[in-house]
Amino acid sequence: MTHHVAIVGAGFSGTLQAINLLRHDGPRATLIERAETPGLGLAYGAARPDHILNVRAGNMSALPDDPGHFVRWLEKEGVADAARQFAPRKTFGRYLKAMLDDAVANCGGRLNIVRGEVTQVDHSGGGARISLADGQSIDADAAVLAVGNLPPHTPPGIDPDALTPPRYFGDPWAADVTDGLSDEDAVLIIGTGLTMIDSALSLDAAGFRGRIIALSRRGLLPRAHEAPGASWERIAERPETVASELVGSLRQRSAAIGWRNAVDELRPFTQFMWGNASEAERSRFLRHLRPWWDVHRHRLAPEVAARIEALRANGRLTIVSGKTMDAREHDDGVAVEWRPRGHDKAETLVVQRIINCTGPLGDLDRTTDPLLRDLTARGLIRADAHRIGIDVDNQARTIAATGQPNDWLYALGPMTRGAFWEIVAVPDIRQQTWALARRLSNAHWVGGEGL
Ligand SMILES: Cc1cc2nc3c(=O)[nH]c(=O)nc-3n(C[C@H](O)[C@H](O)[C@H](O)COP(=O)(O)OP(=O)(O)OC[C@H]3O[C@@H](n4cnc5c(N)ncnc54)[C@H](O)[C@@H]3O)c2cc1C
Repeated sequence: MTHHVAIVGAGFSGTLQAINLLRHDGPRATLIERAETPGLGLAYGAARPDHILNVRAGNMSALPDDPGHFVRWLEKEGVADAARQFAPRKTFGRYLKAMLDDAVANCGGRLNIVRGEVTQVDHSGGGARISLADGQSIDADAAVLAVGNLPPHTPPGIDPDALTPPRYFGDPWAADVTDGLSDEDAVLIIGTGLTMIDSALSLDAAGFRGRIIALSRRGLLPRAHEAPGASWERIAERPETVASELVGSLRQRSAAIGWRNAVDELRPFTQFMWGNASEAERSRFLRHLRPWWDVHRHRLAPEVAARIEALRANGRLTIVSGKTMDAREHDDGVAVEWRPRGHDKAETLVVQRIINCTGPLGDLDRTTDPLLRDLTARGLIRADAHRIGIDVDNQARTIAATGQPNDWLYALGPMTRGAFWEIVAVPDIRQQTWALARRLSNAHWVGGEGL
């Protein structure tokens, strides 16, 4: 019987895990977070005022059984036509924090929040023992790893130790990333995905008027949302397609209903398609299709896309495709040698700052995160077959190095993408935290959601 669950990390995943345990009248919970404010995590904690959600508010409820929850909260805050808006990420953070505060105030002591860094999780007495950096330990019947994404890899050819601060920022969310630049400076952003978009907007909002060059292997930019159009007849069943045929079937549907609708109608099936794909198909998808999938699937709010277009149109933001090869510091900046895609000859860019926006790392064997390194080294968890996260089964139980699922140690959120793939955004994680809370509360045998 599970009486007490310890949750490591109070971002969206951990916070909703705790709230859903309470909503199911399940085990009591201890929510452990190293950051000052629990409930926000990276996406909603590090956001600046001009960072906007990339999903309309109508689909951003934290609760899968109450789809209008966020919209009603926004309306109480005085936001008009809330469901169609792309709210600021900071606002979503306030919503999560308000839910967490409310849960703590009304839980009769069943939810305890602890501030601290978890350094170790052990299997002890049939459950979990959590050790914190300050020497505290917490015993629970089960532990949930909700630690979020790992920081990105260092790009090829760049040795951060050889560059004097603040030439190189490995953490694009660092508070001082825009400090000290002049309008004559140039900034190289490595990566052209959503993190680059945030970074370019932050530089612009901080008043930087110099040049921004964003470089990635393919130079692909996230596409933009459009105003919702007419409804269409969605596919009713999971497409009988393998990764190699996905492009063809998507093109066909795109011709009939538009590419946005063709991508969106796959959403209810993506996890099943991934689950049913062979390891070879998953590999092919990751190698060849992933960059294309990502830019079409994870879109920008129209106003964000317009700001990025304006930066490009007036020459302040340039997107290039290629690969970094070397970076050497000079008196006037860093000379970055890079090879444009499809060319043999390297070129040199002189920039005053480099920001790594290559996106999250999922490979447990390459991470510097002490907790995950330790758990991996002791064989308590292992990397999934494609090294994009923590290996879990379909009940979110972590898998030990022996191949056995751990009944006492679960994982949630983007680090479970090896098993679920589509587990990055709120609509998918809210479902995952809900399902695990039901299981840990012995409520999963009840048929209808919300009971
Ligand atoms: C910049 C950004 C923008 C996004 N925008 C959207 C959006 O518009 N719409 C959408 O649907 N999705 C969006 N997402 C995706 C999604 O909302 C996030 O992936 C989701 O919030 C993940 O939450 P998490 O709790 O799993 O991870 P995180 O938010 O990373 O939280 C993990 C928490 O664990 C803590 N932690 C880690 N290790 C330890 C430890 N050892 N001890 C103690 N604490 C620890 C961290 O401090 C952190 O607070 C965005 C993601 C990012 C990164």
